[in-house]
Amino acid sequence: MNFKRYYAAIAAIVCVFVLCPVVLGAEPVYKDIHGNWVTFDHEVNWGYDPERPHMVVRHPYLDTGVTFSVTYQDVADVTGFGFDCPAEGAARQARVQDALAYLVVVLEGESGQADIHFPASVDIPGGYLATGGALYPSGPNGFYNGAVFAHITTGTKMFPGNPDGFVTFNFNYNYYAGTGTPGGSQFDLWSIALHEVTHALGIASLVNSDGTSGISGGNPGVFSWYEYYLANGNGMDLFSTANGATFMGTTTDLLGGNNGVFFTGAEAVSEFGANVPIYAPNPWQQGSSISHWDTSVTGAVMVPFIGPGDVVREFLDFEIAALADLGYDIESEPDPPTPTPGGPPTPTPTPSIDVPATGPLGIGILIGMITLLMGFAGKKRK
Ligand SMILES: [Zn+2]
Repeated sequence: MNFKRYYAAIAAIVCVFVLCPVVLGAEPVYKDIHGNWVTFDHEVNWGYDPERPHMVVRHPYLDTGVTFSVTYQDVADVTGFGFDCPAEGAARQARVQDALAYLVVVLEGESGQADIHFPASVDIPGGYLATGGALYPSGPNGFYNGAVFAHITTGTKMFPGNPDGFVTFNFNYNYYAGTGTPGGSQFDLWSIALHEVTHALGIASLVNSDGTSGISGGNPGVFSWYEYYLANGNGMDLFSTANGATFMGTTTDLLGGNNGVFFTGAEAVSEFGANVPIYAPNPWQQGSSISHWDTSVTGAVMVPFIGPGDVVREFLDFEIAALADLGYDIESEPDPPTPTPGGPPTPTPTPSIDVPATGPLGIGILIGMITLLMGFAGKKRK
């Protein structure tokens, strides 16, 4: 139908923003899979329309609980690709639904909604597997969990008329869309969907390699509550509430140079048994650094890499505890949605999660195959 027109609009915007990557317009913007800032027009650019057919995921047996509303650009545009693929599209959507159904149970104490949009799937050889994130306000400076958290925990949308979070898949890879065991060369779509939506829930870093905010551009700036809990290996907090939210560390800290980076949220630490090590490689990996648990944390959903054949469809206990640290009501009585007074803050960008690492070609290929997702580093769990 209007597929060609939509496609042209997206391409034009991408090209424009290549030249001015940090332009923030009046509309929400996000970083696309190419790393370019894209203005989000919910009707023209993505075809997102909550009135269109969408997938709804609710609690399997409670009348309350979180509701996920999911829309697919592939389907809206009838592309025949990705989630609209005639052969695999239905199964792929079903695995997303499985991942969300699990999250609904994990977040049993909440009763709000989250609108998750899947922008047009891409086909990029050597790119990462998928990206995910939430929309964040550009200000005022402070710590935020993003629009998905806001909608789930208060019942009120931070940016009315827009999705709260988004996930983009790169279907250049061989995905497994079943519920059993993926083949040795297949990436488990269910596991990756859970990983990406969890970034949108708030397990995400917004800091740039120089300590400025990837959202508001400065320091102090807009940072995530997840980051509020980060400390270096010498016990120094990397962020403070000074001036709303301030990065107190150094570039060395962000590269793990002061005995590593750790998540210190009390609930997570209690379950993990220690501060949780954070992925902080040197050199910096934009979109991956700081936004994941360290690769030494085996069996977790939110590590930076997933290998072909790997299945990680449930959190470790400390990961659920980390969501509690962010403010989610885990396994408790649902609380009624609380309207937020006042209008929404100024819309802005979302974090660019899971951008491919750069480096020597050999490493790039390794990352491309095993990594991607952010990719996983070739570590076969079993
Ligand atoms: Zn990730």
